[in-house]
Amino acid sequence: MQKLKKLRIIYSEGDENFVLIFVFVPQGGAQRMAKRKKTKIVKIGKVKIGGNYPIIIQSMTNTDTFNVKKTVKQIKELEKAGCEIVRIGVPDLKSAKALSKIKKQINIPLVADIHFSADLALEAINQGVDKLRINPGNFPKGKLKEIVRIAKIKKIPIRIGINSGSLEKDLLGRHKRVTAEMMVKSALRNVRLLEKLGFRNLVISLKAPDVLRTVKAYKLLSRKTNHPLHLGVTEAGAEFSGTIKSSIALGSLLLDGIGDTIRVSLSADPVEEVRAGWEILKSLGLRERGIKIVSCPTCARSQIDVINLAKDIEKETSQIKKPLTIAVMGCVVNGLGEGREADLGIVGVAKKMALIMKNGKIQKKIKEKEILKEFKKLL
Ligand code: SF4
Repeated sequence: MQKLKKLRIIYSEGDENFVLIFVFVPQGGAQRMAKRKKTKIVKIGKVKIGGNYPIIIQSMTNTDTFNVKKTVKQIKELEKAGCEIVRIGVPDLKSAKALSKIKKQINIPLVADIHFSADLALEAINQGVDKLRINPGNFPKGKLKEIVRIAKIKKIPIRIGINSGSLEKDLLGRHKRVTAEMMVKSALRNVRLLEKLGFRNLVISLKAPDVLRTVKAYKLLSRKTNHPLHLGVTEAGAEFSGTIKSSIALGSLLLDGIGDTIRVSLSADPVEEVRAGWEILKSLGLRERGIKIVSCPTCARSQIDVINLAKDIEKETSQIKKPLTIAVMGCVVNGLGEGREADLGIVGVAKKMALIMKNGKIQKKIKEKEILKEFKKLL
């Protein structure tokens, strides 16, 4: 039941009758952020995750890993967008051999993503990656022991990455569809494999391509383990639909206090994944970075071209890392209030005229065509 914080007493003194009304006010409104689940702390290169450490944004390259120049270029773009850990596919030996050259040229931890080949995993560790993403059940026992032995020496964590599309056949049985429960079983089975070998430096992910299974699987798993969880909806789709799907799933889990790292998987430039990841964390108040634009959808009352102004300002401020709220509002109806709360505000006050506000105070009234120039000055 919702916890009640305040008992508000309203007196209504009518002519003859004195009425006393009690109103219960829910604490902090109807929806509150749950306390973050305390998971074990895991170190990936210089970045720590879990515990009270910030929720970290990850992405993955889509270049040929063996093409060092192109891969480094993409990672640099991801770093600039705010990516904090980068994963890289290692499909063959040529790619594995490129890892140390890539690592030398980048500033964020590098995670090698390996399927099926234990030898590639061993090579990736030797090349100096900061973390491995594998499914331990895919490897022969002897090889797994060797991976674990070296990962322990090099203090490299392992992410067990369960995907609904590649679940073990015996767990699926005669069922056609993979359930959240099956995914959790698979994750715990893989965790046990590593724990039996004395390896606990773990992160787990449980991804399905739809919101409901993903959320259910993570919620179930979170009750059963303290290992940090990497959140994501796998194969979420193209930029628009994938961002919405990921925002709902990741947002819902984060609101419940679940999740230590996130990736928004998109069939798009991975830089867009990072941008979407930041927007999710920023909108939940979990992290701060760069510009937060508050802009109205416009309506018949709009006095200025809010749609294009918001786009131009977003472009103009995309490289700013300092947290800053900018309001772009079409008229005074909600404009003055939003402008007052923002660091910088632009509010339409008359046809093609706007007020410029800074730190809640009106600075000046200017013509629409001067807004961008004036805005840049203030910025
Ligand atoms: S702020 Fe004004 S112009 Fe913008 S949507 Fe609201 S009423 Fe319409």
